[in-house]
Amino acid sequence: YHKSIMQECHLPGETIDGYRINVFANVELFDELSSVNENGAEGVGLYRTEYTFLSRNELPTEEELTDEYMQMAQILGKRKVVFRSLDLGADKLARVFGTLQEPNPALGLRAIRFSMRHRDLFRRQLKAVLRASVKGNVALMFPMISGLNEIHEAKAVLREAQRELEAEGREYDPDMPVGIMVELPSTVFIADALAHEVDFFSVGTNDLIQYSLGIDRLNRHVSYLYQPLHPAVIRSIKYVVDAGHHAGIEVSVCGELASDPYCVPILLGMGVDTISITPQAIPGIKRIIRQTTMEDCKKLLKDVQEHFQVSAINHTVRESIFRQF
Ligand code: PEP
Ligand code: MG
Repeated sequence: YHKSIMQECHLPGETIDGYRINVFANVELFDELSSVNENGAEGVGLYRTEYTFLSRNELPTEEELTDEYMQMAQILGKRKVVFRSLDLGADKLARVFGTLQEPNPALGLRAIRFSMRHRDLFRRQLKAVLRASVKGNVALMFPMISGLNEIHEAKAVLREAQRELEAEGREYDPDMPVGIMVELPSTVFIADALAHEVDFFSVGTNDLIQYSLGIDRLNRHVSYLYQPLHPAVIRSIKYVVDAGHHAGIEVSVCGELASDPYCVPILLGMGVDTISITPQAIPGIKRIIRQTTMEDCKKLLKDVQEHFQVSAINHTVRESIFRQF
């Protein structure tokens, strides 16, 4: 079984009735690229760039970052790599910055807020991503965007980075796609408006669940309430997919939910363009995609949307899986 699943993982993520979904990998460190290849990832949908910062005592220079990002883009070649700008703060604290004294770190100075506070460092990182953009199929996304202003502010820093590169006579791809992560309920509710400002959405379900249900994703005392198939979560993702598609942009899902065999058929039914998951989960999830039909997934989504109790939703999904597999 293991052998056949590993052989099949290099086939496309395509349903029996010919519907294709991109299956990408989430990566935290450069060294994981080998597992990206071994497990049949068609690209890197989320490169968590902050991990390079976490293990160090000093901040990396622009040259160091450029080297890392260029190598990554080059190794992946035609396959896409989505660089997420620094998602520092909360549970991810770089030694260089020390501990922030915050009563609620998850609601504090993290992700894009942290980058805007450390604007020089942010610009340095964006310059490195831009410099890598000429070496492969590179995209950029901003984490934890809560509204329109933050997109404008982040893009203003991106423009500064572009101006600096021009002044230095360095190349970059002016058409590099720029997207945002959808991880907050506020972002979900105005997704229709935000869709006109960006090239793609990537739904980060780990945080979206945390902030929608009010459940600290790291707190084991309330982990029983951390429910990926909560109807509010399903509605949120569906709303973002529809808003994105209505505006003609791609929507990807890059949280753990996308590697859950119970959730993937529902994402397929919504018409999600890309899922990005931990590399080791790719072979199993591709097998599920290749053994189902879009028709079944759409029916499942419709059935699931009629329930408001998580236990009933779980039951509906289980029934459908037993019928098909
Ligand atoms: C998420 O929040 O779902 C996500 C993919 O980002 P991270 O897990 O790095 O916060
Ligand atoms: Mg997140």
